[in-house]
Amino acid sequence: MQKSIERISGDSAGVFYEFPAFRFTGADKAAPSAYLQSALHAGELPGVVAIDALMPALNKAEVEGRIKGNITVVPWANPIGRAQYHFGEHQGRFHLGTRTNFNRAFPLLAAPDTALLPDTTFGTADQQLKTRLLQLSIGHDIVLDLHCDDEGLAYLYVHTSLWPTMADCASAMGIDAVVLWSEDSDGTFEGATIMPYQNVPAGVAKFERRVATTVEYRGMLDVDGRLAASDAEGLYRLLVARGVIADPALPAPGPFTGFVAPLENIDMMPAPRAGAVLYDVKPGDRVAKGARLATIVHTPGEVGGRTEVFAPQDGIILTRRARRIIRAGEDLLKLVGDKKSADARSGTLED
Ligand SMILES: [Zn+2]
Repeated sequence: MQKSIERISGDSAGVFYEFPAFRFTGADKAAPSAYLQSALHAGELPGVVAIDALMPALNKAEVEGRIKGNITVVPWANPIGRAQYHFGEHQGRFHLGTRTNFNRAFPLLAAPDTALLPDTTFGTADQQLKTRLLQLSIGHDIVLDLHCDDEGLAYLYVHTSLWPTMADCASAMGIDAVVLWSEDSDGTFEGATIMPYQNVPAGVAKFERRVATTVEYRGMLDVDGRLAASDAEGLYRLLVARGVIADPALPAPGPFTGFVAPLENIDMMPAPRAGAVLYDVKPGDRVAKGARLATIVHTPGEVGGRTEVFAPQDGIILTRRARRIIRAGEDLLKLVGDKKSADARSGTLED
């Protein structure tokens, strides 16, 4: 295994950011390669600890000569966001310098070729970071971007062109749910790893084994040794199932038993009032249309001081917010409905 230090220039003189990348060289040039990154949203740590738990298995496979395809691992993908604190609160989602989400505005290339990447040498620090991460990931057959939600199930965003061929991966990882998307105009990292391949003619074998996904490893507080160990096992199973690592003792993944829904079915459920949230439901709960999802206590102690929110359709609770203070219009939860959402905001990637 080789460790390199990636360096990004800050937006003012004398400021630099660094993050490590680990590379394992595969023994078989024809084997699929894999790229794993976590904490692009710098405070989302379940993936960081999962990778930490995975590394001993990768090192062992290397010693035993079982690494077939190249593997690149970037456990802390965002040193800029990692350093951003505002009055003691960590801010890892948006770059404070440009107000841009760290998982938006990635360049969407016309082909999977690093020569097409924009020259961001004199760009802002976050632009440099995005170019560097794409440069590290392009060319890998398997690209996993590990995130988490506020509170949630373990779920994947998967492009419709990669489903159901990725069902074995979802099964190997022990994922609860898969959300299918088809258009990305905002330039998420996942979108930037998929869009360059959309013009590749169908039937090109090299591209048929592609895996690309945003992995939502539950919630912000699910940074836990046992979950990290089981998520690491899931990642390892995926790498074995797809031939990146050889491990004949490991059985092939069974059929995927979680649920799958198109992004258009997600109801984001905005809060009608500002206040304190009392939830009736948690991630994983099945709800019927009309069931109460939450109560907002907006004028405590007064008659009419509560407003209830009801399910617009039958479905499953995918996520809810971690904090219980809310403003009017902010999203209370994500409900994966059995049918298309009536809310026009659904259909965009929300990772
Ligand atoms: Zn995220």
